[in-house]
Amino acid sequence: MKQIIVLATTNQGKTKEIKELLKDLPIEIKNLGDFGPIPEVIEDGETFDDNAYKKAAFTAKVLGYPAMADDSGLCVEALDGAPGVYSARYAGENATDSDNVQKLLEALKNEENRKAAFQCVISIAVPTGAALTYEGRCEGILTREPAGDNGFGYDPLFFFPEFNKTFAQLSIAEKGDISHRGKALKEISNEMDKIITWLDMNMPDFTRVPCKG
Ligand code: IMP
Repeated sequence: MKQIIVLATTNQGKTKEIKELLKDLPIEIKNLGDFGPIPEVIEDGETFDDNAYKKAAFTAKVLGYPAMADDSGLCVEALDGAPGVYSARYAGENATDSDNVQKLLEALKNEENRKAAFQCVISIAVPTGAALTYEGRCEGILTREPAGDNGFGYDPLFFFPEFNKTFAQLSIAEKGDISHRGKALKEISNEMDKIITWLDMNMPDFTRVPCKG
């Protein structure tokens, strides 16, 4: 039987990318939607690492399966690394991708330094709280207007010079070759044998002790 791993995210863009890039591995990826509703994790960590671990460990504990969570964001040099861990809610608590893109364009309106980097931390946790961590980073330049319809989040503004395209102009496979998430997933993919062994050793034994009466 294939090892089940639950993907602890409600972000459709991330889910699509992660599933596509891990599709040939001997694991069965389940979504949060495959289970009943579970309480939402409050992402109040100060780093990508904190938040990725929080999401993965909480989900593993609640569902009793190994869970994988990605925490990622855009770090802009001219904004001292903002929006960083606040990337999803840069323009407010219920901001859409388009709200965030507009706010960033406005913040950089008079700025010549357009350097930015996407960062990603992926945590794989078991219900006891033990976890493995993977990271990836990708450097790029922010454009002055959105270009492209693929991807999600800040992809239409993130220009990758070597391809002469924004991330939103790349296919999932092209983006996965060079992106922050793609790099972290490649490492996971290369180490999958070891990860499966680690999961086997660290998953608690849920066999119940019988009770008389
Ligand atoms: P999280 O769910 O708290 O990790 O939020 C991540 C946010 O960072 C997303 O909602 C996007 O705004 C942004 N982000 C992360 N990765 C990407 C990417 O690959 N492309 C575009 N935006 C991204």
